Amino acid sequence: MTELRNFSRESYRAIELYAPDRAPCRIDLSDNTNCWGVAPAVEEALRDASTSTLTRYPNLYAASLKEALGHYLGVSHDRVVTGCGSDDILDSAIRAFAEPGDVIVSPDPSFAMIPIFARMNGLRPVAVPLTQSYDVDPDAMLATDARIIYLCSPNNPTGAALSRSAIERVVERARGIVIVDEAYAEFASVDLSAIALGSDRVLIARTMSKAFGLAGLRVGYATGAPALVAEVEKSRGPYKVSAIAERAALAALGDGFDWALERVAEAKTNRGRLTAELERRGLVPIHSEANFVLVPIPDANARARQMRSLGVAVRPFEGLPAISDALRASAGSALRISVGPWDMVAAALGALDATIGES
Ligand code: PMP
Repeated sequence: MTELRNFSRESYRAIELYAPDRAPCRIDLSDNTNCWGVAPAVEEALRDASTSTLTRYPNLYAASLKEALGHYLGVSHDRVVTGCGSDDILDSAIRAFAEPGDVIVSPDPSFAMIPIFARMNGLRPVAVPLTQSYDVDPDAMLATDARIIYLCSPNNPTGAALSRSAIERVVERARGIVIVDEAYAEFASVDLSAIALGSDRVLIARTMSKAFGLAGLRVGYATGAPALVAEVEKSRGPYKVSAIAERAALAALGDGFDWALERVAEAKTNRGRLTAELERRGLVPIHSEANFVLVPIPDANARARQMRSLGVAVRPFEGLPAISDALRASAGSALRISVGPWDMVAAALGALDATIGES
């Protein structure tokens, strides 16, 4: 028998497939997508798509979408780059702005894909713990002398917004690029995109997966100085936004825009209600500016499994750094609950209560 050989790149062998539990569940509050659905205008645009949308290649770099996103952000189209989800934007930016062996620093905890994209591109990921108020420590980030500094605000999974002063300090002193991931911008009280207008080193990454409900179509984008955006576009390559995705995204930003704004307002109201309900149970949820709430609680994995068996999926975290009293008390264990229509959130609270009753 011939021996099976391993042809994988040495640095790839330690990388595991990113595969959180995505098994279908009756009520899914595990991935911060839009639980209300999409705007009727988007459904209509998809229904009315012509056959050539399927048979022809899409526009190379989604020119019409760049135009519409520029309008949404209040910037010219040469300051916008699109991608196959903001995952693609982040991956492409890391590849564009750092050489293999360079350091990328991100807060801990933050978006789980960053160290994975870093290693896939040959970079060395370094993590710097958030402060006890869930803010970024700018000097600790800067002290790593990283080629790329990644910040996420509101941060995933904490939901907390970073302070403007910390972000500005990082931007002022960074030696390389600063990526500010604003995937949850629409739900936050502060819009950071203007920071990219005043700097040649800031790339603001955004997505249409959350507020606009297009996670299944994979549409992400970024804004920054034209020279920066051009490098990300080169790195991302042609045809990354499908014709059908571009069509839907244009409808979401056009006739569907008010629908999204109304759902965002509802999400913010329900986020406040969810936070209050968790506090009423003696828990200490983190103040969220996103469409989810992270609540430190022991044994998150077991609780999430039990909640799933009751028909509600939430995202468990264990091994988070003990940066706050609440995370110390839970031994770094927490549940992240996406905010959707209130009946879904109420079902999650009911399922959570079942786990508390039995613990
Ligand atoms: N950034 C953050 C902080 C996220 O939470 C996510 C999705 N969970 C993404 C980026 C990627 O989103 P997408 O690829 O769907 O645009």
